[in-house]
Amino acid sequence: MGEAEQRYVQEAFITNWIAPLGPNVDGFEREVSEMTGARGAVALSSGTAGLHLALKLAGVGRGDTVFVSTLTFVASVNPILYEGAEPVFIDSDFETWNMSPKALERALVAARKEGRLPKAVMVVNLYGQSADMDPIIDLCERFGIPIIEDAAESLGATYKGKASGTLGEFGIYSFNGNKIITTSGGGMLVSDNAEALSKARYWATQSREPALHYEHSEVGYNYRMSNLLAGVGRGQLQQLENRISARRAVFDRYEQTLGNIEGVSFMPEANFGRSTRWLTALTINPHMTGIATTDLLRALADENIEARPVWKPMHLQPLLRKYDYFPHMPQYSVSDQLFKQGICLPSGTAMSVQDQGRVIDCISHHIRLSAKHAAI
Ligand SMILES: *Cc1c(COP(=O)(O)O)cnc(C)c1O
Repeated sequence: MGEAEQRYVQEAFITNWIAPLGPNVDGFEREVSEMTGARGAVALSSGTAGLHLALKLAGVGRGDTVFVSTLTFVASVNPILYEGAEPVFIDSDFETWNMSPKALERALVAARKEGRLPKAVMVVNLYGQSADMDPIIDLCERFGIPIIEDAAESLGATYKGKASGTLGEFGIYSFNGNKIITTSGGGMLVSDNAEALSKARYWATQSREPALHYEHSEVGYNYRMSNLLAGVGRGQLQQLENRISARRAVFDRYEQTLGNIEGVSFMPEANFGRSTRWLTALTINPHMTGIATTDLLRALADENIEARPVWKPMHLQPLLRKYDYFPHMPQYSVSDQLFKQGICLPSGTAMSVQDQGRVIDCISHHIRLSAKHAAI
């Protein structure tokens, strides 16, 4: 947190705007739409709330299906279940780690054959990088399906010059504590469809009708962002470009020091745009390095270094195993492979070069050790 955040929050205190509306909410919405180029934005209590409202705007209801990236955090899928709809999981490709257009095409063709096209396709942009949107947009236009972009992890990323999150009908950002900028908890729904956004604003305020007495004719939600937290968000937004530079510098240091170890591969940055490198993610080939990711994660934990596997794909989750899954190729699942071999490294903006050196030393030490054992 910096001084700008404090100033905005203080202003909210002084003017006594502590409600889930007020000048900071309006300001934050305006600033996010200006920065992303979206026509409008609605500030919400979480990114998950944004996905929920986007699904409702796409008309998703009981018995419908929604296609969604399998390699993601469960928050992408839960709102589909809230509406009584069924997710169908789509694999990643190796170039972006995001939705595979090939798998999407197979899934759409199969769905049409069954006469059961999805109500929406939710594309997730992982670890700060956009999916390859053009082929995905072409497919969705061909089949007449709206796109929802889960850009919770990709605020500030670009795709062919456009802001990640603004390429579909609806996009959402998250300002949860772990994201590149944060309001401690919060989210934003963006779209060019002003009418849809006012509907979302209405649903997010308990579907309160414009009447003095409390009048309601639809189910509503308490999903608006508070004016205090929007103040934090406005201050944080001013830091976004600095954070992206810092995260990219963290990535570069990891890549320069670990990138030439055989069997270590970093998440590629596709040439269609800029990744924010929100998290540095890489894969460790156990045959080439002699070490399994689980053992490397344990070795890091032993030195009090917090690293994590790549997201466990949704089609492997006990909650979701019963739903359909379309892998990248009929006999080959990219996300399974990324989950088995992938690791996310500490990537915080505030991490010192010394701390990062400790992570790098630990990894190269353990890989060298395993290689030596293998040689013996
Ligand atoms: C964080 C995250 C969300 C959810 O955002 P919240 O603000 O925590 O509700 C959704 N999708 C992905 C991919 C995320 O990483």
